[in-house]
Amino acid sequence: MTPSQIDRLIAGFKGFKATYYEQRPERFQSLIERGQNPKTLVIACSDSRADPAILTNAEPGELFVIRNVANLVPPYQPDGKVLGTSSAIEFAVRDLAVRHIVVLGHSNCGGIDALQRVARGEEPEREFLANWVSIACKAPGCQGTGDNSADQIGRDAIVISLNNLKSFPWLAELHAKKELSLHGWWFDMNQGALWAYNEFKGSFEVLA
Ligand SMILES: [Zn+2]
Repeated sequence: MTPSQIDRLIAGFKGFKATYYEQRPERFQSLIERGQNPKTLVIACSDSRADPAILTNAEPGELFVIRNVANLVPPYQPDGKVLGTSSAIEFAVRDLAVRHIVVLGHSNCGGIDALQRVARGEEPEREFLANWVSIACKAPGCQGTGDNSADQIGRDAIVISLNNLKSFPWLAELHAKKELSLHGWWFDMNQGALWAYNEFKGSFEVLA
């Protein structure tokens, strides 16, 4: 009998436990005693193929991670509504004092595909998705004023999220003082390449 998916995950945890508790117990002990002190907030897509910790080979304690559909940042809107992404951004920036924020998008994104359908005026088939992805409806490809390929819209959505980050006043202040840097990354899973947004050129270039 082949092990179920859940059995595989439990076996995976045993491997993690062996690595971090049995071989290097001091590492987690220090993270517990001193608390977490990640220097980087990553805002990534929920997509199972684009896990930021796996893509960057990060260690426990290195990344504070927010994941949502299409790695979107809503604009600053303290209106009393329940806002998961904004509250996690606030905690990372104001309490953990991260020094970097990476918005990490990727190719073949289902959220960007949904955004393209919204832009074409198709009726939403789901209750929540269309509203959420509309955060990025200013992308030129959605407005009929630019490249409307999924790859380009995905990259434009990253730039929109970077701009929305700067609408949070306490974040913008740290960014202006150069105490916080913003990065737009895009993972091309077809080529195994990582692209980065160059704000001076206004375009993405291959990083690795
Ligand atoms: Zn995605």
